[in-house]
Amino acid sequence: MSGVEGAGDSGGMRVVAIDGPAGSGKTSVAQALAARLGLDYLDTGAMYRAVTFAVLRARGDPADRAFTAAVARTIDVRVTGEQVLVDGVDATVEIRGTPVDRAVSAVAANPEVRAEMVARQRDWARRRGGGVVEGRDIGTVVFPQADLKVYLRADPEVRALRRARQSGALDLGTGAGAVESVAADLARRDTIDSTRQAAPLSMASDAVVIDTTDQTFDETIEQILALL
Ligand code: C5P
Repeated sequence: MSGVEGAGDSGGMRVVAIDGPAGSGKTSVAQALAARLGLDYLDTGAMYRAVTFAVLRARGDPADRAFTAAVARTIDVRVTGEQVLVDGVDATVEIRGTPVDRAVSAVAANPEVRAEMVARQRDWARRRGGGVVEGRDIGTVVFPQADLKVYLRADPEVRALRRARQSGALDLGTGAGAVESVAADLARRDTIDSTRQAAPLSMASDAVVIDTTDQTFDETIEQILALL
């Protein structure tokens, strides 16, 4: 297996990169893989969400590049399993809420914010000897020499339904309306994430593309384990 040589890293790390749009199944797949492989797991989306949370908490403008970059450089983010602490405050629930959902893609489009987060992600892996890392630019930018790069995709309707289920929107009895509103948010984020100049969501040329639309979760995991 090859080592990771992203941005000055020497070999020796074992990194599995999982990229794809929101709702493609990245989080559950990456968590299960990490458990099966005995590796740590990093949700890089949670890091961009944490920066966005801190910007909104300070009543900053998500489009203000100087401000969001300053927040990114000074923020203390601790991601432990599902829990996310931002400057000592438990933001686990808020980082998944609507205000952060709406603003995160603008914050993540700032190249200075990305440079800071990418440095932290590489440092995270270096200290652990690797890990399973999920995001949008993991195989293309953060760890271009990852041992395995998986790009998960799924039809937009299926992704929206999964996200609506996860967020509990369907339990609130809002039914089809809830799915439609989640679908609109995903489409808007997909567009910003794929068209931004800095590290847009895109497939690495050597990524294995897995379409999870009609697959069960176990089938996806077994397919990836077989690739490893
Ligand atoms: O994965 P999740 O949907 O939680 O990510 C939230 C947002 O963070 C994405 O819509 C994207 O704008 C940004 N992101 C990113 N690069 C990553 C991970 C997430 O730009 N590696």
